[in-house]
Amino acid sequence: MNTTELLSIVVPCYNEEEVLPIFFNTVQKECNKLKNIDVEFIFVNDGSKDKTLNILRDLAKTYPNTVRYVSFSRNFGKEAGLYAGLQYAKGDYTVVMDADLQDPPEFLDEMLQILRKSNGEIDCVGTRRVTREGEPPIRSFFAQQFYKLINRISDTEIVDGARDFRMMTRQMVDAILSITEYNRFSKGIFSWVGFNTHYLEYKNKERAAGETSWSFWDLFKYSIDGIVAFSDAPLAIASFVGILSFFVAILLAILIILRTIIFDDPTSGWPSLVCIILAIGGMQLFCLGILGKYLGKMFLETKKRPIYIIKEDENSRGDLNG
Ligand code: UDP
Ligand code: MG
Repeated sequence: MNTTELLSIVVPCYNEEEVLPIFFNTVQKECNKLKNIDVEFIFVNDGSKDKTLNILRDLAKTYPNTVRYVSFSRNFGKEAGLYAGLQYAKGDYTVVMDADLQDPPEFLDEMLQILRKSNGEIDCVGTRRVTREGEPPIRSFFAQQFYKLINRISDTEIVDGARDFRMMTRQMVDAILSITEYNRFSKGIFSWVGFNTHYLEYKNKERAAGETSWSFWDLFKYSIDGIVAFSDAPLAIASFVGILSFFVAILLAILIILRTIIFDDPTSGWPSLVCIILAIGGMQLFCLGILGKYLGKMFLETKKRPIYIIKEDENSRGDLNG
């Protein structure tokens, strides 16, 4: 009877040449401590502009049984990388890790043991960072506000500080793969598919090398995408604002009628009129903008474009060589 299980380690990489060799060595050392399990690495090169792909080719050549890679035709974003990696993963368990060693590989053993011991009770062991040390305070502040907001307006719970670093059973991976939407917000998808997640907590670590590819603006856009993907509450804003301004208008009308009757002053109020017109115009455009955001996402979704396009993987490279 063959009882050796397989663990797939999925690593999206975008311009990670500096840190990749350190990452591979560190994680491989941790993997040697795991019992009764084979390990495969699946690196996804997300259109890196540096030597990441060369490093991956070398690794795959040196460790043909443990290292596999997929290389995209351009940068498709981390979400696409994750999806491709999960599709390629064959493991009984699959773990998703960042290449920058911000996800502590020491956890792998513990994660695996929790999944095995739970006897099917727990389907996923995730990680939550409880501090955000080493991060600019403004960034932390906005991140916290984002989690508060999205959890208030969305039915899907998005856990504050939860990382993508998580180990999942085959069943959960298949569930995630069954979600084929184009606008992928993984933090929401992990939670949306259900199953039981156990969170390990740890303190934030800085990148081992290289730089984060996320600017503040990227994070802002990412959070808007998250909200649009997992809540339709903003759509209700238009009706709310409409009703509110209707009642304000009625109140003002009554006030003006009273004032005219009592003080006999019918012509004043031109500046306030301009302000009101501007305010209402602004609110209307704002609501149109929200509608437009959802419409834009729908537009992208209906095109049914593939989530990523592969230029090469370890097999096709083998063909080129041979
Ligand atoms: N990444 C990616 N495609 C991108 C941006 C990032 O595959 O377009 C990968 C990156 O190589 C890393 C992970 O996603 O392995 C997390 O990126 P990063 O460390 O820059 O983000 P942070 O840890 O700051 O959230
Ligand atoms: Mg990182």
